[in-house]
Amino acid sequence: MSANTLVHDFELPFQLYDVLDTEKLCNHSRFSEHNRETFDSVLETAKKMATQLFLPHNHLADKDEPCFKDGKVGMIDEVKTAYDAYRQSGFIAGRYSFAEGGMQLPETVLTALSSYFTAANPSTTAYPFLTSAAINVIAHFASDEVKALFMPRMLTGEFTGTMALTEPHAGSSLADIRTTAVQQEDGSYRLKGSKMFISAGDHQLSENIIHLVLAKLPNAPSGVKGISLFIVPKYRLNDDGSVGTDNDVHLAGLIHKLGYRGTTSTALSFGDNDDCHAYLVGEPHFGLRYMFKMMNEARIAVGFGAAMIGYRGYQYSLAYAKERTQGRIAPNNKPEDDATAIINHGDVKRMLLAQKAYSEGGIALCLYGSNLIDRINTCEDSANQASASTDSTSDDGSSEDSTNKKATLKAELSELLDLLTPVLKAWPAEYGVKANDLGIQVLGGAGYTREYYAEQFWRDNRLNPIHEGTNGIQALDLSFRKLWQNNGIGLKILQREISQDLQNITTPETAKLADKLTPYIEELQTVLLHLSRLLATEKAITLTANAQALMNVLATIIVSWMWIRQASKAEQLLLTTSPNLEKQQYYCGKIQTAKYFIDWELPTIRRDIELLIEDNSVCTDMQVGWF
Ligand SMILES: Cc1cc2nc3c(=O)[nH]c(=O)nc-3n(C[C@H](O)[C@H](O)[C@H](O)COP(=O)(O)OP(=O)(O)OC[C@H]3O[C@@H](n4cnc5c(N)ncnc54)[C@H](O)[C@@H]3O)c2cc1C
Repeated sequence: MSANTLVHDFELPFQLYDVLDTEKLCNHSRFSEHNRETFDSVLETAKKMATQLFLPHNHLADKDEPCFKDGKVGMIDEVKTAYDAYRQSGFIAGRYSFAEGGMQLPETVLTALSSYFTAANPSTTAYPFLTSAAINVIAHFASDEVKALFMPRMLTGEFTGTMALTEPHAGSSLADIRTTAVQQEDGSYRLKGSKMFISAGDHQLSENIIHLVLAKLPNAPSGVKGISLFIVPKYRLNDDGSVGTDNDVHLAGLIHKLGYRGTTSTALSFGDNDDCHAYLVGEPHFGLRYMFKMMNEARIAVGFGAAMIGYRGYQYSLAYAKERTQGRIAPNNKPEDDATAIINHGDVKRMLLAQKAYSEGGIALCLYGSNLIDRINTCEDSANQASASTDSTSDDGSSEDSTNKKATLKAELSELLDLLTPVLKAWPAEYGVKANDLGIQVLGGAGYTREYYAEQFWRDNRLNPIHEGTNGIQALDLSFRKLWQNNGIGLKILQREISQDLQNITTPETAKLADKLTPYIEELQTVLLHLSRLLATEKAITLTANAQALMNVLATIIVSWMWIRQASKAEQLLLTTSPNLEKQQYYCGKIQTAKYFIDWELPTIRRDIELLIEDNSVCTDMQVGWF
C-alpha cells in the first residue's frame, strides 16, 4: 500500500461479500441480471477511473480553485476531463432501471463504488454526486411532463444538478426562507430570491445546470409547511428541448472555502429581472417534505464521504509511518543502532488504530445503511424471496400472510433507516475529521505543511459536520424525534438486529467483545427510559444541549456493533479457511481494531451516560451575559 492507496484491495470485497452478503440481493428480480462478477467489474472501472482521472488533480484543484473570469466560472481543465469520463461511464444513472438507461445497481454497490471517487478527489466528485441527488428527488416527486424535460439529460450528465436550499439568513432554519414563486396566468411560475452556499451552482462542465430550489408561494402557510420545491434551469429549454436563453439566474459571487475548494460554491440570485422561469415539483407546500424524504441517500453519502476522506488520510499517514524513521526501540535502542520506523512506536500505533477504527467503522456503518435501503426496496419483490430474505420473517405461510409479512418488514426496516439516518450522517462526519486530525499528528511537522496532503484531507472533511444539516441539528433530530416516532419502533428493530448478530457469534475472541458490549446496551435502555419521562417535564430543555451526548452514546454502541460484525466475520474466515499471509494479516487487523474500539472508545460513553441520567444542566443554565 502506498501514499496514493485509495482503498485497500481486501476492504470492499470483505465489507460487501463477507459482512453484508451483497450477492444475495441478486436473488431479487430487480437485481437478477447482476452477480458478483458484474459488481466487481463496476468497482474495477470506478477504481481505474478514480485513480487515473480524479486522484491526479485533487491537490491542483485545491491550489488553483475555480475563479470568475471573462464573465464565466473558470477552473482547471482536468475537472472537465474527469467529469466527462464519469458521466460517460453511466454511473450517474447507476440506480435506475435498464429501461431508463440505468445500470439497475443496488445502493450498496453504488455506495461502495463512490468510495474510490471520494477518496481520490471529493471536490470533483461533488459535481456528478449532486446531480444524482437532484435526479433522485425529481424521479420521485416531479410530474411525468417535468421529468421528461429534465431527467433524461441529467441521467446522462449532459445537465448537472444542484440543491438550492440555503439563503444568507436561513441555513438550519429553512422555515425562514424568503425566496418566492408566483404563478402566472398561463399556469407557469416565476421565481425570485437569493441562495447562498450553492455547491456546483455555476461552472462550464455541462450544457445546463438544473437547480432544485426551495421557495414560498404567496399566502403559503408559515413555517416549514409553506415551502414548495421548484426546478429552475440555468438556461431555458426551447420547445424542441434544445438549450435556449438565460433564465435570469445570476452568479452573485463565488465563496472561498477552507476545503472542498475544487467545487464551486456560489451565491445565486434568481429573478433579478422578474423573468426566472420555474417548474413546480409535486404539490405546492410539500417541498421540504420531498427534500427530506430523499435525505436518507444524501445523508448516507455525506457520512460515507467523510469516512472515505478519513480513510484516505489513514492510508496516507500509514504509508508515511512505515517510511519515516525516528528514535530507537528496545532491544535495539543503542545510539549506534539504526533508527526505527515510527510505526513501531506504541503511540503512533495508537493513532493509526484510532484512524482505522473511525474510518472503517464509518465505512461499515454507511454500507449497512445502504444495504438497508436495498432490503427495503426488495422487501416486496417476490422473486426467490425465501432464499433472499435475511430476516426472520421469510415467507412460509399463505400468500396473503406472506404479503402482510413483507409489508410489515418493509415498514419496520423503513423505521430503522429513519432512526439511523442522523447517526449515519453525523458519526462518520465527526470521527472522519478526528481521523484526519490524527493523520496530521502522525506526520508530525510534515503534517502541518502544505507540501504534504494530510492538511488538505482535514480541510476537506471539515465541511461534513456542517452541511446536509449540521451535526448539532442531527443530534436534536435524533433526541427529540427519531428515537420516539411511531412508539419507538425503529429502536426496537435496531435492538432486534443487534441481538440477532450477537446471538449468532460462534468465535471466541468476538464473543468476548460481545460480552463487553452487552452492559452498555442495557445502560442505553435505562437512559432512554429516563429520557422518555424527562421529555414530558420542563427539564427537557437540558436535552437541547445533552443531545450530543445522546448521539454519542447511541452511535458509539452502533459502531461497536459494526466492529463486532466485522471481527466475527474475520475470525470465522481465519478459523475456517486457509487464507494466505496477506489475508491473515488483514483479518487479524480487523479483529484487533474491533478490540481497540471496544476497549478504548466504547467506555468513553460512560461520561455521556452520566450527564444524561443526571439531567445535567450546566450548558443550558449558562447565561448569555456570563460568556
Ligand atoms: C461548503 C459548503 C457547501 C454547501 N452546499 C450547499 C448546497 O449545495 N446547497 C444548500 O442549500 N446549502 C449548502 N450549504 C449550506 C449548509 O447546508 C449550511 O451551511 C448548513 O445548513 C448550516 O446553515 P448555516 O451555515 O446558515 O448555519 P446556521 O444555521 O447559522 O448555524 C450556525 C450554528 O448554530 C447551530 N444552530 C442553528 N440552529 C440551531 C438550533 N435550532 N438548535 C441548536 N443549534 C442550532 C448550528 O448547528 C451551527 O452550529 C453548504 C455549506 C457549505 C459550507
